[in-house]
Formats: sequence, structure tokens, C-alpha cells
Amino acid sequence: MKLAVYGKGGIGKSTISCNLSLALAKRGKKVLQLGCDPKHDSTFSLTGFLIPTIIDTLQSKDYHYENVWSEDVIYQGYGNVDCVEAGGPPAGAGCGGYVVGETVKLLKELNAFYEYDIILFDVLGDVVCGGFSAPLNYADYCLIVTDNGFDALFAANRIAASVKEKARTHPIRLAGLIGNRTSKRDLIQKYVEACPMPVLEVLPHFEDIRISRIKGKTLFELAENESDLDYLCEYYLSIADQLLAQPEGVIPNEISDRDIFQILSHF
Ligand code: ADP
Ligand code: MG
Repeated sequence: MKLAVYGKGGIGKSTISCNLSLALAKRGKKVLQLGCDPKHDSTFSLTGFLIPTIIDTLQSKDYHYENVWSEDVIYQGYGNVDCVEAGGPPAGAGCGGYVVGETVKLLKELNAFYEYDIILFDVLGDVVCGGFSAPLNYADYCLIVTDNGFDALFAANRIAASVKEKARTHPIRLAGLIGNRTSKRDLIQKYVEACPMPVLEVLPHFEDIRISRIKGKTLFELAENESDLDYLCEYYLSIADQLLAQPEGVIPNEISDRDIFQILSHF
């Protein structure tokens, strides 16, 4: 199963991705997390460091794919989750979609692409141009991370539109929204009333989650020594279980920019 996690920058995609990858591994799946954000810190909580990116490695080998080995680009993270960072195009030049394409091509050459039960693409999604929607070409399910605010829901609506577009040629579904860093869900609720889609979980702001990211560890790793963190792991296990049940999901019907301003306006 291929998953693509999208959402506005800084909304919590990578934190959720790492913990969700691990939750899926805890359920016995062989998991690869593939960071597709030029920020290349997607897998930091799993490895504890910034691993070299595919683009850096390819550049150092003059794009000779035959000289790149699995161990150059695939790093084993905590709990046996394998980690890859695609990296980014040079700032102000190149295309994020090209980078994702090259990454998938390389993983196929290394016979790694079909080796996993789950590949999770962690993708920046403020603006989903053709390039940044590239992971949707491979995904069975898209997940969108949002908080209870206008900006993240506006981005979510754009991402939903991209899923609809891709669904014309590819069997992709939107599994749903994951609310993050919010105890309120009124705007999320308003949005899904206008654009129906499941809400898989809503995670409040937890200081322990923020600190786990700084420490470069998943909640599961920290919970090994602090059992009072177990309840946080349950959020991610719940999302994992919902996905493993192969939910129907939706092909979303995004709402217009004008409507989203109206629906989410506080005035
Ligand atoms: P993204 O990958 O979407 O850019 P990150 O996963 O890097 O976002 O998260 C951004 C920041 O928010 C990080 O410092 C992270 O620790 C923090 N964070 C994410 N989710 C939560 C949460 N539920 N509670 C508290 N802090 C969180
Ligand atoms: Mg990230």
C-alpha cells in the first residue's frame, strides 16, 4: 500500500509520518518512509539525524544510477522502518516532481520499490503544482494533515482538488483528514460538511510531541521508558488500523476559493 501524507508546511506532516510509519511497523508491516519535502527532515525522528538525500547522492555519482547502492540511500530507522530522503531541487530552479520521479526510478532500479508492504510519501503541500502532486501518481491513499485554521484548510482544499484530478486516471482515494495541534475542530467540521471526507483523528497540541521531534525520536521510542506516553501512541495506532482496514475513502469534490473564504470566515 502506498500512502501520501500532504499538508501545509509546519503543520505536523513529518511528525505524524514518522509515528504512523512506526505504528504500521508495530502492526507487522515492512515500511519505507520517503521524505519528499525539500526540507529533507522527514525521517529525522526515526533516524535521529539528517540522512543524505537521493539528489545529493546522485549528484555525487554524476547521476550514474548503476553506482548507487541501497545502503547509500536507504537508512534503517527506529523499529526497522526504512528511511529515504528525496531532497529538493536547487532553490529557485528545478522541479520537486522531477526529484520524486528520480527517487522512485532509483528505488525501482535497486529493486526496493516493490519490497515494502507500505511506502509512505511525506510531501509538502502548500501549493500543489504538477510537481508536488507527483507522489499522488503512486499512492493508493492520500492523507491530509490540517489544524483548525483557515490556512491549513485552504491548503487541504487544494490538495483535495489534486486528488480529484489524479483520480481521473489513477485509482487513488482520499483516506481523510488528520487534525493536528488543535483541541478545537469546529472549522474542520464546517469544511467536511461542505466537502465530505472522513476525519481519521484529531490530535491536540501536546508538549511531549513537540519535544519528541526536537529529540529526534518517535513517541513510541520515548514511551519505552515513559509509559504515560502510551496514550499518545494510541492516536497513531488508530490511524494505522483504519488504513490497514483499507477504507473506502472518497474522491473529493473541492469547494471554490470563494466558498471556502465564506465558510471558514469568523465574521
Ligand atoms: P511539517 O512536516 O508539516 O513541516 P513537522 O512535523 O516538522 O511539520 O512539525 C512542525 C513542528 O510542530 C515540530 O516542531 C513538531 O514537533 C511540532 N508538532 C507537530 N505535531 C504536534 C503536536 N500534535 N503537538 C505539539 N507539537 C507538534
Ligand atoms: Mg516535514
